[in-house]
Amino acid sequence: VAGFTAVPGLEAIVARMIAPAVEDIGRQVEEEAKKLAPPTKQWITVEDDKVRVTHRAAHGQIVPDNLRFSVPSMDWDMKHRGVGPITYFKQPRDESSRAVANLKHCRCITRTDEEGIAREVNRTGAVFEGHEVKVTVYAQGKWIIQAEYGTVYPGNLPAPGTHFMARAAANVATRREG
Ligand SMILES: [Zn+2]
Repeated sequence: VAGFTAVPGLEAIVARMIAPAVEDIGRQVEEEAKKLAPPTKQWITVEDDKVRVTHRAAHGQIVPDNLRFSVPSMDWDMKHRGVGPITYFKQPRDESSRAVANLKHCRCITRTDEEGIAREVNRTGAVFEGHEVKVTVYAQGKWIIQAEYGTVYPGNLPAPGTHFMARAAANVATRREG
């Protein structure tokens, strides 16, 4: 065993030394997470007086691209298609929603925002806790959990997660291993 003389406060000094490298990793993970974050989509009606009430209620609704819009159901669909009070659409006229009446003659569209979730990804600067240095990359917003992990809607309609945060960390780790 080689001799070792403890330097008082060495761990704190080391933490300061490696801080720039840790910050660089944080920066890379943040950048990768923003790249992998799903877009958001917004339900848009044509805003004339023929737009049905249920779609008027959905106008302006924004969700991550992997999720579904929540739109009030139409009576016919509840009676004949077994949908609940809310119909879950990937996009207007989405047959996987199991609705029929709520699709007919629909003229709605979706508007995509590529940066929708990316804008909610952020990172802290280096934080020193004793002999540790820590950088946190985080995402904060109404839909982050569902964007990452997905969800299952009533009627067993799946919305898979995008795992953009987990994949960002994994990608940066892989890159650093060469
Ligand atoms: Zn419509």
